[in-house]
Amino acid sequence: MENQTKPRHFIQRIIDEDNISGKFENRVHTRFPPEPNGYLHIGHAKSICLNFSIADEFGGKCNLRFDDTNPIAEEEEYVHSIQADVKWLGYDWEDRLYFASDYFQQLYDYAIDLVKSGKAYVCELTPEEIRETRGNLKEPGKESPFRNRSVDENMDLFTRMKNGEFPNGSRTLRAKIDMAHPNMNMRDPVIYRILHAHHHNTGDDWCIYPMYDWAHGLEDSIEGVTHSLCSLEFEDHRPLYDWYLEALDVYRPQQIEFARLNLSYTIMSKRLLKQLVDDNHVSGWDDPRMPTLSGLRRRGYTPGAIRNFMDEIGVAKRNNVMEMTKLEFALKSDLNKRSQRRMAVLNPLKVVITNYPEGEDELLDAINNPEDESAGKRQVPFGRELYIEQDDFMEDPPKKFFRLGPGREVRLRYAYFITCNEVVKDENGNITELKCTYDPETKGGNAPDGRKVKGTIHWVSAKHAINGDVRLYDRLFCVPNPASKENFIEALNPDSLTVINECKMEPELAHSEIGITIQFERLGYFCKDPDSNDNPIFNRTVPLRDSWAKIEKQLHSGAKN
Ligand code: ATP
Ligand code: MG
Repeated sequence: MENQTKPRHFIQRIIDEDNISGKFENRVHTRFPPEPNGYLHIGHAKSICLNFSIADEFGGKCNLRFDDTNPIAEEEEYVHSIQADVKWLGYDWEDRLYFASDYFQQLYDYAIDLVKSGKAYVCELTPEEIRETRGNLKEPGKESPFRNRSVDENMDLFTRMKNGEFPNGSRTLRAKIDMAHPNMNMRDPVIYRILHAHHHNTGDDWCIYPMYDWAHGLEDSIEGVTHSLCSLEFEDHRPLYDWYLEALDVYRPQQIEFARLNLSYTIMSKRLLKQLVDDNHVSGWDDPRMPTLSGLRRRGYTPGAIRNFMDEIGVAKRNNVMEMTKLEFALKSDLNKRSQRRMAVLNPLKVVITNYPEGEDELLDAINNPEDESAGKRQVPFGRELYIEQDDFMEDPPKKFFRLGPGREVRLRYAYFITCNEVVKDENGNITELKCTYDPETKGGNAPDGRKVKGTIHWVSAKHAINGDVRLYDRLFCVPNPASKENFIEALNPDSLTVINECKMEPELAHSEIGITIQFERLGYFCKDPDSNDNPIFNRTVPLRDSWAKIEKQLHSGAKN
């Protein structure tokens, strides 16, 4: 719906035009083509949302295709996690799950066609020699001494490459294009390399593997893709993409490039993320501090929030960096609508209600979600002994502190007004307990005499509370662009995880489901972690208030002074 009121982005406009000209007979067919060499991150979500939503909008199709042409980095585990993540985001490739490796025979046959037409040759330069003879932006490259071999000789050598007669790196198949081409990608690029390696899908069937540029366009062509959407770094590869398809005279999809999503204070590269995992800087790919989809899911992000964010930031042709706070804003507006409210006290301070009858307790009505009436109500137990947040009491409160202090009255959410009469301390002067009185007339949180209190605080009943741990997360990195550092590991934030044990939680939280995000009133959104056992563990998804934005503001204004 939203798309109709928003200005159409450049890819939608290109497809509109293609549909008018009939370029693809009004078909729209996209694909999301991950390489299974790691878990998906939030950057991939941009590509997923774009490809699937374009197909959806135009009544077309979107394939999930694994670009598994590099046996060395690829693993089954990643194939599974990627499918789970795309599904979790809410997209369905139906029966169109493809693997580039399923096309290995066809890609090889295409290469034979190219050899036969004199447009490819077997080169015996080493990878270093190929690099050295490529030239640079100012100077043309040097032609390989093997460039003008006969078709028969090339056929013979290429077949023997395939049959495993040569060691790794000893030969390549190269396209015969132009060593003086201004676009370096066109200087006789490598099509096949020799790699005696086990492949996750094809096992030991192959010892030559196609290069990305060769494989990608042909995969798109085989699948009948119309619009091949990829990120900007492939713009310079488009002429090669087109050259291969033209040289083979096969169906030609249109490659269109868009800007990658970059987010501040994190990294967006599977290779670097893998390093964090392998070197134990995080607990795994799904560590809630990771920008991976599995990490965000464990942290409590919703697919709806991620889709809304992608919709809001749109699609552009120029690279830029998005503020993490923007993603968090989309998250909070989604969670605000969906999340049930509960009460939990992270740093408990005991309160004894001295005029509440001993040994008694009662159940009070609490609203599950003020944004969603259908979420209904629940009952929370109240009694003589409670816990409140240490932060919500000050012995000597400054002017603007409206919470509890000696002689002050506040509202306990869904419960009563209480007044603090006495502060109990231990021998070191630490506050251990507050003695308060409650006004039984204020049940539900309003005084019949109309008197007002300025503060409302959350609480839990000491007798009924369950214990639980809470994991608070901060930015994984201390600098806005860690990938630009020589050693990005040094930019890791040492305080990115804080664990608080023995938090006091309302009993309902014992039943909360893993993966369902809840608002702890006044504190933020929290999601039960899969590591929970009898002792529940809650990950803080995002605080309610934007403490980081505030800190940054202070830093910036500090820098100006
Ligand atoms: P990485 O460097 O993280 O491995 P990649 O581009 O090599 O990224 P692929 O698995 O090849 O990873 O990516 C699959 C698709 O996702 C590609 O079409 C790619 O353009 C797109 N993609 C990857 N990262 C981003 C990003 N940050 N923003 C938008 N699209 C992205
Ligand atoms: Mg890649």
